Amino acid sequence: MGCTRSSMPAVLPVPGEGTLRRIDYLRISVTDRCNLKCVYCMPAAGVNCMEKHEVLSTTEIVRFVQIAYRYGLRKVRITGGEPLVRGDILSLIRALKQDVGIRDLSITTNGLLLEGMAEQLKHAGLDRVNVSLDTMDPERYRNITRGGALDTVWRGIEAAVEAGLAPLKINMVPLRGINDDEVRDFARLTYERDFHIRFIEFMPTGGNAWRRTDCVTSGEVRAQVASLGRLTPLLFRGGGPSRNYRLSGARGVIGFISPVSDHFCGSCNRLRLSADGKLRPCLFSDQIIDVRPHLRRRSADRDLADLIEQAVRSKPAGHFIERLGTTAPSLVSLSQIGG
Ligand code: SAM
Ligand code: SF4
Repeated sequence: MGCTRSSMPAVLPVPGEGTLRRIDYLRISVTDRCNLKCVYCMPAAGVNCMEKHEVLSTTEIVRFVQIAYRYGLRKVRITGGEPLVRGDILSLIRALKQDVGIRDLSITTNGLLLEGMAEQLKHAGLDRVNVSLDTMDPERYRNITRGGALDTVWRGIEAAVEAGLAPLKINMVPLRGINDDEVRDFARLTYERDFHIRFIEFMPTGGNAWRRTDCVTSGEVRAQVASLGRLTPLLFRGGGPSRNYRLSGARGVIGFISPVSDHFCGSCNRLRLSADGKLRPCLFSDQIIDVRPHLRRRSADRDLADLIEQAVRSKPAGHFIERLGTTAPSLVSLSQIGG
């Protein structure tokens, strides 16, 4: 295919640190549609969804990943919107695993459709799953997600464990006065189960009316968790932004992801591709590189590799949440970008 840079690893200098950073992780949003409307992600009225023809086809996504793979990409997370509502999700996973050879292939899902799909997802080549779950109270769950059924999610989690999609990670966004009293309950889960519980700070996006005071920082969450027992730091960071710990005597892992209080840009190893083919070097920057026209007119591999390199080189050293004030009007909802 004549891509001269195909074997070059995606590395770039991190300004101010004098080190090299390896960009080997791609998050792909495969749809902006969702079967929920979580209060921290979307406005009550929902968001304008893309037209079908705007969304990248499986063939287009696979070609992009093939080129990125030759450029150093090894890990892919599929997200959305809700990725499991995409009709051909199993074929996409099969192609990414079997045809491209992605080593670490995972998905982030709200879990509503997981029970019926876990086995097929595993069979298609999915390695791991992250389930977003912010409360263990059915009524709260209905309120936070604007209509979701908690027991369906739990059945999905058990089906994923049964299918061997491990380690199973649970993403929890603590919101002040809404579910932050459940932080310890989530942490306690790790005594019984080998789940990874990841507490994620509430971020400003165009889909929510973010106020700094609504965000429960990782420091606050950690203090709550530490009241249960000794927290031992774990050396592995899984190549991502999570700072990981284990409570003494626990089986599972507790992770803190702190995009607001402790921006981790210097170690950020990822690019994001939206469902309509916009490549984003950073979640909190308006900079986007539109790869869809190049995929649609079948530009040369080298041209696409150049766009990937441009995205890698544009990754910022830091972002600006603390400077954004109360809202971030230029940002769209995470369901549209791909969270
Ligand atoms: N629908 C799937 C789900 O909920 O898992 C995948 C897409 S969702 C946008 C991906 C992740 O982004 C979820 O774990 C969700 O909790 C998180 N998220 C969405 N909006 C957020 C926000 N404003 N701050 C922090 N995390 C957010
Ligand atoms: Fe909730 Fe995920 Fe849908 Fe956003 S995309 S509304 S976080 S389920």
